[in-house]
Amino acid sequence: MSDEVLRGSCLCGAIAYEVRAPFLEFAHCHCSRCRKATGSSHATNLYVSPDRLSWLSGQDAVVRFDLPSARSFATTFCRNCGGPLPHHTRSGRVIVVPAGSLDNVPGLKPRAHIFWRSRAPWTSDAAGLPGFDEYADDWGA
Ligand SMILES: [Zn+2]
Ligand SMILES: [Zn+2]
Repeated sequence: MSDEVLRGSCLCGAIAYEVRAPFLEFAHCHCSRCRKATGSSHATNLYVSPDRLSWLSGQDAVVRFDLPSARSFATTFCRNCGGPLPHHTRSGRVIVVPAGSLDNVPGLKPRAHIFWRSRAPWTSDAAGLPGFDEYADDWGA
């Protein structure tokens, strides 16, 4: 799997990218900011090193929002359709890839629910995955 390449795109298709293995983490995040950013019960994100992301088209339509009140929370989306896209954390050390924007099926599966304590009361069950109050215990990012 170390040579795995995944493609992704936004809702309208104007922006496309690819990410290359190795993938660092794959998790569901239930923090309140991810809920606001996605409009859903949680975000599902894949994490890769910055040199693993390449834009294939439409990069000039990528809009970034850094939440002023947060230490590092940001979101990136298509100017045309609002579809979420990969973005680097403010430290620049890691790229957060919204898994729903992927057009291929990754060779790995999410391994945890993070910020599980912050989940919405109407969240469905954890489907057998471990839940962590914040980041997973051995979280590398
Ligand atoms: Zn778009
Ligand atoms: Zn989150």
